[in-house]
Amino acid sequence: MTDRVAVITGGTKGIGLSFSRRMVHLGYRVIAVYRDDDASAEELATELRGDVVPIRADVSDPAQVSRLAESVLAGHGAPHVLVNNAGRNIDGPFLDMSHAAWRQVLDTNLSGPFYLAKEFAPEMLHLDQPSIVNIGSTTAIRPRLDGVNYCASKAGLLHLTKCLAMELAPTIRVNCLIPGMIDTVEMNTRFRTGEPAARAAMLAEIPQRRIGSPDEMADALEFLIGDGARYVTGQKLIVDGGQFMW
Ligand code: NDP
Repeated sequence: MTDRVAVITGGTKGIGLSFSRRMVHLGYRVIAVYRDDDASAEELATELRGDVVPIRADVSDPAQVSRLAESVLAGHGAPHVLVNNAGRNIDGPFLDMSHAAWRQVLDTNLSGPFYLAKEFAPEMLHLDQPSIVNIGSTTAIRPRLDGVNYCASKAGLLHLTKCLAMELAPTIRVNCLIPGMIDTVEMNTRFRTGEPAARAAMLAEIPQRRIGSPDEMADALEFLIGDGARYVTGQKLIVDGGQFMW
């Protein structure tokens, strides 16, 4: 599979880092897209020398996505797998939320996957069993406080997934992988899991009584992009320890 390419946005950190490692393990060359943390990108490139190509590009900017796609297609060819994982939270009460906070989150979490799919899907249509996986959130289905921008962006992403699954069928399968509480710096900071009371309250809502690991998300990704999921498209796969049973 060494000629296979996977583009993973936000592939240098958190859940995306596990995705990058797993895809390399599966024999893919990984293009790991990140926004501005060069140090994490260099660390990953050193760890997986030759198999990962980190590229700095802001997915919320269509011009940067276009340049990214040009360079990937010219240098590596069309990707068999596109994982739209880059995501952003700028939380706050609706009444205080600025237009900028609304736009930045929507542009990254919803428009970014649209731009990436627009650039790569026409080329992916010529490949054998290509697949797009969008990384969603349970808040796409059940909203939470102080996240009007994030919840709306992920709800849109879930529907974008279904529309793309219809329009790109039968060649490209498009699915939405939804993490529950997954152990990343971003999640631990935002939900204050270092504080015993906050952590206990969170775990009380999860039947598996633990926070999930990024590797468990990579297990689910491996299923969705693999032959075992060849009849699965337009679906959401929720990996959350049973927190929400929809
Ligand atoms: P992290 O914050 O740990 O990592 C985010 C990654 O995305 C980084 O590599 C970052 O690059 C990159 N990124 C952010 N914005 C952009 C952008 N505009 N353009 C390109 N790259 C960008 O996130 P997580 O691993 O926690 O989350 C990954 C995904 O999973 C997100 O979509 C998130 O919404 C979703 N999710 C996560 C949950 C969790 O519990 N962790 C729960 C539900 C959903 P850089 O570091 O350079 O800024």
